[in-house]
Amino acid sequence: MPGDMPQRAATVVIIGTGGTIAGAAARPQDLTRYRAGSLSAQQLIQAVPALAGQAIEAESLAQIDSCDMDHATWLELARAIQRHAARDDVAGIVITHGTDTLEETACFLHRTLRADKPVVLTAAMRPATAPSPDGPQNLVDAVLLAGTPGVRGVLAVLNGSVFGADGLRKVHGFRVDAFSGGDAGPLALLQDGRLRLLRAWPAAAPLFEAALQIDPASWPVVDIVTSHAGARGATLQALVQAGAHGIVIAGTGNGSVHTSLLQAAVQAQRQGVAVRRASRCLLGGVVDGAADGQSDEARWPGGIPSAGDATPAQARVQLMLALATALATALATAPFTAPDTGLATALATAPASGPAPEDRPRPAGV
Ligand code: ASP
Repeated sequence: MPGDMPQRAATVVIIGTGGTIAGAAARPQDLTRYRAGSLSAQQLIQAVPALAGQAIEAESLAQIDSCDMDHATWLELARAIQRHAARDDVAGIVITHGTDTLEETACFLHRTLRADKPVVLTAAMRPATAPSPDGPQNLVDAVLLAGTPGVRGVLAVLNGSVFGADGLRKVHGFRVDAFSGGDAGPLALLQDGRLRLLRAWPAAAPLFEAALQIDPASWPVVDIVTSHAGARGATLQALVQAGAHGIVIAGTGNGSVHTSLLQAAVQAQRQGVAVRRASRCLLGGVVDGAADGQSDEARWPGGIPSAGDATPAQARVQLMLALATALATALATAPFTAPDTGLATALATAPASGPAPEDRPRPAGV
């Protein structure tokens, strides 16, 4: 009798958020002109015969172009994942997403969720109306991955490759093979419906889980400024004046920063703004430390820490979460009798140069 059998975790939940995978164009040949997020998660599944008969549940959380992704949607997504992952009958969760900010959402989920069950992001570079869309295959691969026992962590599957959140980046604007896992490469490959594992699944790294307790409207503001020939310190100062609590500099090469910008960054850091140096190069990140044993931070004026392997966009997410976590801790330990203990007070007591040392893993951390 079914009631006597232990329930097997077999259901895969697909949470739709929009993107090109759910995009529709006026004409089949329009591969770059289309409306992202036109289809619901249910419609996406119905359009893929290979998924028929499988134990799949669909939830449409949003239908947006992921260039419009926002913090409130992230929190909603994290809560939906937690809710489904807690169910005994659920093997894993798939999230359909746009490719533009996929690396940021992956980073956010990786740093806030335990992901003992697979949380698999997938996307597409061609809209669903293309003669040869990449979305259906990616969705089939994602469902297979999410339903495979032993798989865990926040993952992304695109074009037959499985990536972890660390190192993930979009490296091409329109080709189907648009993602890279950074210097470490993919974690696994999907070949003829079989999973070929190349490296271990990522260990849970929900360093900033506490950030989920805070209303996203109160998450500290972290902005990105790019270093380039002729860069102006005034740009960074303007961001601070506009209320930035943290700044990520998308530096040149190995995280180098134009002197004008650097002076403004050092000044901002003295005022309590957390600053990090990332690299605007597509691959490589920032190599921290040196053969002489002196840390990179020590060698930099003002000791501006590097963001390690994280892309500038991922470094922004991590720094924001680190500051939000510091805020959550400050609020949790604040005396109940202090009615004015709010964001300003908590941020004033947060570490001036960003998160506590334990929140700054190397090389991937902020
Ligand atoms: N602009 C789209 C998005 O990120 C691009 C895509 O999904 O490929 O939603």
